[in-house]
Amino acid sequence: MKKAIFILSYLLVCCLPVLQAQQQRQCGNEMIRKALIAKDPSWAQRFEENREALQGIAEDYIKNKHQAGAAERTTLTGTVPVIFHIVVTPWQYYNMGGGAGVIQRCDSQIAILNRDFNAENSDSTLIPSGWKALYGSSGIHFGLAHTAPTGYGTPGYEVTILSGADTAFSDIASYFASAKTTGIGTPSWDVDKYLNIWCVEFDGAASSILGATVSKSTTGGSTGTSPSLEGVVMLYKVLGNVGPSTGYNYIPYDLGRTLTHEVGHFFEIWHPWGDDGPGSLHSGYCPWDGGADDGLGDTPPQSGATYGNPVYTITGGTFNDGCKMNGTTDTQPYGVGCLDFMDYTDDGGMHLFTPQQCAAMASMVLVPPTGGTGATGKGLVGENYDLSQHPELLNWPATTGIVDAVPLSSTVSLSPNPTTGTVTITFDASLSTLNNVGVVNLLGQQVLYREIDGKQKDIYSIDLSTLDKGIYFVRCNFASGTVIRKIILQ
Ligand SMILES: [Zn+2]
Repeated sequence: MKKAIFILSYLLVCCLPVLQAQQQRQCGNEMIRKALIAKDPSWAQRFEENREALQGIAEDYIKNKHQAGAAERTTLTGTVPVIFHIVVTPWQYYNMGGGAGVIQRCDSQIAILNRDFNAENSDSTLIPSGWKALYGSSGIHFGLAHTAPTGYGTPGYEVTILSGADTAFSDIASYFASAKTTGIGTPSWDVDKYLNIWCVEFDGAASSILGATVSKSTTGGSTGTSPSLEGVVMLYKVLGNVGPSTGYNYIPYDLGRTLTHEVGHFFEIWHPWGDDGPGSLHSGYCPWDGGADDGLGDTPPQSGATYGNPVYTITGGTFNDGCKMNGTTDTQPYGVGCLDFMDYTDDGGMHLFTPQQCAAMASMVLVPPTGGTGATGKGLVGENYDLSQHPELLNWPATTGIVDAVPLSSTVSLSPNPTTGTVTITFDASLSTLNNVGVVNLLGQQVLYREIDGKQKDIYSIDLSTLDKGIYFVRCNFASGTVIRKIILQ
C-alpha cells in the first residue's frame, strides 16, 4: 500500500509541473445577478439604481476627501478581517501544496490584496503613461482574522477535507445550497465582522468560473441570496500563490488577482463594460449605442470584456475594443481599461483600480452608513462599514484552544503557539496523569506519537520541527480523558 502511494505521488509530481489554465477568465457575478432577475424581475431595477448611484457616491467621497472641513476623510483607512474557508478533496489539498501551501497562499493573498487596494503593487511600473493619473488607492486594508467568533485563536483559514462522495459542487447555486443546508461548505462567520472567502472547486455549469461574489446588493428579500452567504466563492487553485516546490500555480491566474477582482464586486463596483451584451442585464455595447457601463466616470467606455494580456502588444500601451470611437470621430485617448482589476485580463496584465472605483469602494467600507437609501433598502454608502470596525479580530486571543469537556482542560496550555518547532505542554498534574501525546494533521492522520513513561510531571516538551508547516491537533491523553489543542507550526 505504501508503495502504491509512493508511485502515485511520483506520477503526480512528474506529470504536473505546472497547472496551465485552459480557460478564459470568467466571473460568476453576472450569473448571480441574472439568476436573481429571473426569479424576480424587479431586481433588474434595483441593480440599475445601484449602478446609477455609484457615480454620485464616488464624487461625494472624493469631494469630501479634499474638503478642508472634512479632514478626517483625508486619512481614512481601515482593516478588514478575512477568513478563508478552504473546502477541498485530498487531491486538491495536495494540489494547493498541503498545509505549507495553504499558509503561503493565504499569506500571499492578503499581501496581494493590500498592495492592489493601496496602489502599492510593484507591477504598477508597467502602467502606460496615459493611465498613470488613473492609478487609485482606496485606503482599505486586509488582514487574516486571528480571533474566531468562538473567541478562540484561528490562523485566518480553516480547511475542510471532503470525502470521496463530495468531490465537487456542480455550480455556484449547489455550493450555496450545500453550505446553507448541510454545512459541507462550512458556514460563514459573522458577515458583519469578517470577510468570508470560500475556496472550492467549481464543476458542471460553473466549471469555467474563477470566482463569484455575494455582496449586500444581491442579498435580502424573498428571492435574494441569504445574507449568511455574503462573501466570495473562488476556485481553490487561484488563491494567492506558492513557490514551485510547495504547490502548483494556476497560470495565468496565479498572482491572486481573482480575489482582488471579486472583492471589488463585494464592495459594489462593476465590470467596466457594465455587463451588457446578448443575454445580459442591458442591451447594446457602447454607451452611445444604448449600452451600459459601470456607472463611473473615469473608467473609459468599453464594449465588453478583455481577455489575455493585450496591453503590452500595442504601441503606446493603448488597447481599444468596439468603443474605440466616441460616436463618430473622437478616439478614446487611453483605450479600454484592460489593465483594470475589474476586467477579465490575465493576472499579469491587471494593475489598477481607478480613483473613482477606489472612492466607491472606500465609501462602502470606511464611511459610516448614511441611512437606507440604496435600492435594496440597505444603503450602499457604509454598507460594509462594520467590517472595518473590528481590528481586535486581527489579534490572537490570550489562549488558543478548542472546546473539550475534560475538567483539567482549563489548566492545559501549549506554548508558543504558533511555533516553529518545540512546543511545551503545561498542565496541573494534581488533576490527572499525562499518559501519551499524539499529533494529528488536518486529514486526521496521526503524524507523531510520544509515550510519557508514567512520570508525574506538569510540563512536557514535544518537537514538531520534522513536520510540514501547517495546522495540527495535539491530543494530550490523560488518565482521566483527552484534551485537544490546535497548534500552528510555522
Ligand atoms: Zn467580475
